[in-house]
Amino acid sequence: MAFFSWLFRRRKKTTVTCPRCLGKGKVDLNDIKRLKMELKWAPGRCAYCNGVGKVAPEMVANVAVDEAYLTTDLTNRVRMRLINKDPEAVMRAASHEQSMDDFIEQVRRLYFAENRSTEEIATIYLQSGLDMDHATYIREKKELIEYINRVVAKDA
Ligand SMILES: [Zn+2]
Repeated sequence: MAFFSWLFRRRKKTTVTCPRCLGKGKVDLNDIKRLKMELKWAPGRCAYCNGVGKVAPEMVANVAVDEAYLTTDLTNRVRMRLINKDPEAVMRAASHEQSMDDFIEQVRRLYFAENRSTEEIATIYLQSGLDMDHATYIREKKELIEYINRVVAKDA
């Protein structure tokens, strides 16, 4: 079909190597370090190119490569809204990044200024999750303590 061959030829021509994963389709620890997202992302499929390794130039123009909110946690719909600069999606992305930064700041304050242990800090944040079952609580607390250790290690 002529139409589809035209489409694919065109797409091939107009894509660029994904600036987030550098074409691997996966974000690894080196990419995370390069983009200074150690406390915000985990390695895995690249959410910027959706694992393809290439993106349209419009993507690079519209979405910052280190947009913290653009992770594989987003639904495809929200992802497309963000890429198309839907004002609500853009606002949500900004407030997401702000909450993350606030949380990291709070953890640092509790640890460095109030001399709380990582265990105590984790307990404070898990207060609201007391209705979860014990196994979940233990697992989440362990994950949170590991994360807090990374947050405070950055400044140590
Ligand atoms: Zn990518």
